[in-house]
Amino acid sequence: MRSLLATVFRPACPLCTRPAQGYFCVDCQRQIEATRLPQPWQFWQEPLPLAAWGRYQDALKRVLGALKYHNRPELARPLGHHLGDLWLTGGHGLPQPPGVVPIPIHPEKRKTRGYNQAELLAEAFCQYVGLKLYSNLLLRQTDTQAQHSLSAREREANLATAFAINPHHRRPKAPVLILDDIYTTGATARTAQAVLQQAGLRVVGILVVATGKADMPGESPVSKSKTGANGQMMKGTSQH
Ligand SMILES: [Zn+2]
Repeated sequence: MRSLLATVFRPACPLCTRPAQGYFCVDCQRQIEATRLPQPWQFWQEPLPLAAWGRYQDALKRVLGALKYHNRPELARPLGHHLGDLWLTGGHGLPQPPGVVPIPIHPEKRKTRGYNQAELLAEAFCQYVGLKLYSNLLLRQTDTQAQHSLSAREREANLATAFAINPHHRRPKAPVLILDDIYTTGATARTAQAVLQQAGLRVVGILVVATGKADMPGESPVSKSKTGANGQMMKGTSQH
């Protein structure tokens, strides 16, 4: 009877609805671990250093989908802690702790979704590692989701006006780290970087939960073009 009650009242795994141990069931936890990058700091280099926890595929892709599209904001916590563990390995080599700037989503989308998943990830991450969070420093001015029909160049042009600095927000004195859920072509990240730099802030890099970069890890970062085959993986979702 006791074990039956434990089974009944144990929270369900958000990926498969089997009883969870912690946030996920043992099996899904293992599958998420399997997407983890063996060399997460491989692309931590100019012009925009990138660190990613895992590959945007399989179980990790499903977790991010649940966080983003199926109203599971609580999933930002374990993922934010994964980012925290990654950060604490010190692969960034930064002497000064950066301020953390999550990529914003358009206010309309935020209203519909109820939250910005990047901001929730950044909150959990900052709490875990003790970095300062600058949630509303960047503003999203245009919704860039409905752009699938555009070419990569057109999308980049549209993105150029997508972000602005919030004039009422206090400015971080330290350099800043951009944080987002997913990195694929890097178009969004580069645009955010440019806007922050134009405002006189130094961007140390971008930290993401998952990357769809086709050349990560394994191949040399200079062996492929920036867009390459990555667009393929993100078809039907927004451009990152
Ligand atoms: Zn599960």
